[in-house]
Amino acid sequence: MKNVLMAISGPSGVGKGTLVKALLGKRADVTVSVSCTTREPRPGEREGKDYFFLTKEEFLRRAKEGEFLEYDEHFGNYYGTPKSFVREALKEKSVILEIDVVGALNAKKAFPECVLVMVLPPSVEELKKRLEGRHSETEEEIKTRLARIDYELSKRELYDYAVVNDTPERAAAELEEILDAEKNKA
Ligand code: ADP
Ligand code: 5GP
Repeated sequence: MKNVLMAISGPSGVGKGTLVKALLGKRADVTVSVSCTTREPRPGEREGKDYFFLTKEEFLRRAKEGEFLEYDEHFGNYYGTPKSFVREALKEKSVILEIDVVGALNAKKAFPECVLVMVLPPSVEELKKRLEGRHSETEEEIKTRLARIDYELSKRELYDYAVVNDTPERAAAELEEILDAEKNKA
């Protein structure tokens, strides 16, 4: 069985982090890529675990050196996938990229074997509830994230798979089935 690079996208608050955490808890043969960002850490976030937190200057220097598989700007901050991290991690395990749709489509351009999975909410109402219930963004930040929902969902057709996050248990199990199907492909 091969190691797979899998990008998991979907609107902010849909449950990507929750599902990836569940998958990592179940599977020792899967790891998650740690992105670089210029945004401030949220309470509880750790350097090198949730993100590598960089200054804008350092991020742009690395981007210029071609050190990112893809990078993009969201909500006024830069986010990027470090190439070297992914390359090294894939030698040992399957690797999950938890990135937005633009990032995932760019990752697929750079790395065509990348499997694209979109996480969908049971409804847009439920998505708003989850985003507000997380209490990690200001009202202004929530508004910006909500405004992006339609765009993210409109890219669904370009994805290899879509998983509805109705309950975390069921959705994580479906994600695991997709991973195994891809690992077993010749
Ligand atoms: P994302 O990583 O996509 O931004 P999170 O994983 O942080 O989203 O989830 C957003 C909020 O929704 C969190 O408070 C999380 O606990 C909650 N959540 C995730 N999945 C579900 C689900 N299936 N049902 C109800 N709440 C959920
Ligand atoms: P957050 O600030 O909520 O952690 O992330 C904001 C957005 O940035 C999310 O849509 C998330 O998927 C995206 N993101 C996180 N890491 C990366 C990355 O490495 N590249 C890209 N393009 N987007 C990312």
